[in-house]
Amino acid sequence: MLSLHGLAASRGYAVGRAVVLGAAALEVSHYRIAPEDTESECARLAEALERARDEFLRLADQLPPDSPRELGALLQVHAMLLADPMLTQEPLVLIREKHYNAEWALTAQGQLVGEQFAAMSDEYLRERSSDVRHVIERVLQVLAGAPEISTPVANDDSAEALVVVAHDISPADMVKLRGAQFAAFVTDLGGATSHTAIVARSMGVPAVVGLNHVCQFAQEGDILVVDGEAGVVLINPSPAVLAEYAQRQAGYAAERAALTLIKDTPPVTLDGIRIGLQANIEWPEEAVSALAAGAEGIGLFRSEFLFMNRADLPDEEEQYAAYASVVRTMDGRPVTIRTLDIGSDKTLDDDAAVTTNPALGERAVRYCLARPDMFAAQLRAILRASAHGHVRILLPMIAHMHEVHACLAAIDSAKQDLDARGQAYAERVEVGAMVEIPAIAIAIEPFAETLDFLSIGTNDLIQYTLAIDRADPTVARLYDPLHPAVLRLIAHTINAGARAGKPVSVCGEMAGDVSLTRLLLGLGLTNFSMHSQQMLDVKREILRAHSNALRTRVAAALNRAEAVDLASL
Ligand code: PEP
Ligand code: MG
Repeated sequence: MLSLHGLAASRGYAVGRAVVLGAAALEVSHYRIAPEDTESECARLAEALERARDEFLRLADQLPPDSPRELGALLQVHAMLLADPMLTQEPLVLIREKHYNAEWALTAQGQLVGEQFAAMSDEYLRERSSDVRHVIERVLQVLAGAPEISTPVANDDSAEALVVVAHDISPADMVKLRGAQFAAFVTDLGGATSHTAIVARSMGVPAVVGLNHVCQFAQEGDILVVDGEAGVVLINPSPAVLAEYAQRQAGYAAERAALTLIKDTPPVTLDGIRIGLQANIEWPEEAVSALAAGAEGIGLFRSEFLFMNRADLPDEEEQYAAYASVVRTMDGRPVTIRTLDIGSDKTLDDDAAVTTNPALGERAVRYCLARPDMFAAQLRAILRASAHGHVRILLPMIAHMHEVHACLAAIDSAKQDLDARGQAYAERVEVGAMVEIPAIAIAIEPFAETLDFLSIGTNDLIQYTLAIDRADPTVARLYDPLHPAVLRLIAHTINAGARAGKPVSVCGEMAGDVSLTRLLLGLGLTNFSMHSQQMLDVKREILRAHSNALRTRVAAALNRAEAVDLASL
């Protein structure tokens, strides 16, 4: 058994077989097909393999006479590889037995074959591993040109659990992987508040990131234990360890079940302070689980996820349908829709090359203000959704008052467009800003005066205050929510909101981290927004807390030089 230690990014335990995704493999979709479709999927793959092979043979035949001789030989090798049962038969077994889609079956088998070649002592044969990669990429291209097939079919209960192993998974890749219902995610890269981790939490599956070497050590099909509590991954553990983890899994499930008893209990501290608990969502359908967890509203709808993994932008109608569906589901409860926060690690498919430091580049509101037509379409869609309930607009990455004024003007102009069209929107739509750049937190007063509410994005606030890339595991130990500078910025924002009579919430991952609930209450926070998976744990902590006593203790701790000791609260 091998054990690897990383960062616990999403809670829970999972035991399953490894599905190793290489960088190229992530470009293709991975999903299970319905049993009745296996034969047509096999035929689809067989046809693609044959087409690719014929192509290589044709190319070899038609090579101009002055081409290097090796090229013809290489094309022949490629055609031969595509006739080898390792690639023509074995993937069909994966399709028939495991119900993998053709692309997944091919990449999984290709990885295995490539590794076999790479491990050979003969240099010529070792080099064939890159040929395997090339031919597989060609077949994937052929498959991509084939007509789209059925939508992903979720694992049925009897299917074995699968753990995704990858060097890194971008938020866009997570969106693609989401449909296949994997049991856990483990990656070499990533920090605990990277968007990969956030998406895993929203899916309610354990994740361990920042493992450094998991891709090197875990092989396709290995049994993995993913301990999302301790941040540990075990590769091929002994039966005794597996039995131990089966018990932990059962214990964890029982604890989750017991927590549902407080779902309808109002979140009130022992000294009677009513706390607001709202949910963060990335996709419209998550509003249902937010309600089921007892959320009193949506505190953060990350609208950018609607824009990712596609060649085109969602138009006003499509966005309106998505926003309105959440507003209808929430049935009068507040729905805070954040305008597009694209850039940094969340990119659109057609974005130009990454700039030198995307986290400090044209991200979020900067991106939107530079694209007025796109921004206007989103604002009109949000405003139209407001006709169905209680909508609030949240502006990401605000640093300057002139950005606030520009956004307010854009909202007014979107309203005028709707007036001209005779389309309805709510009389009052509150507008707030994310407090996630130190500049706004330090000079918060005019923002608190002008805006209707503030929402502290601690994920970026910590990143930008401490100059720590939130997705970089090599500096993850310095990503410290307890740094006095971070806590003072949070306290300063909460106090300014109180003075201006404007609500302040925290919607970054700190709000859902149960070990920080008492600290945030002690900082005077009364509105929390988090993934619904975390809500009941946080509520239990709130029900046990004495808010005023915590405020005194935290105030004293903030005045001391050293970092706050959570155990003393
Ligand atoms: C944050 O920065 O804390 C936040 C909530 O926004 P995101 O994680 O989407 O950047
Ligand atoms: Mg942010």
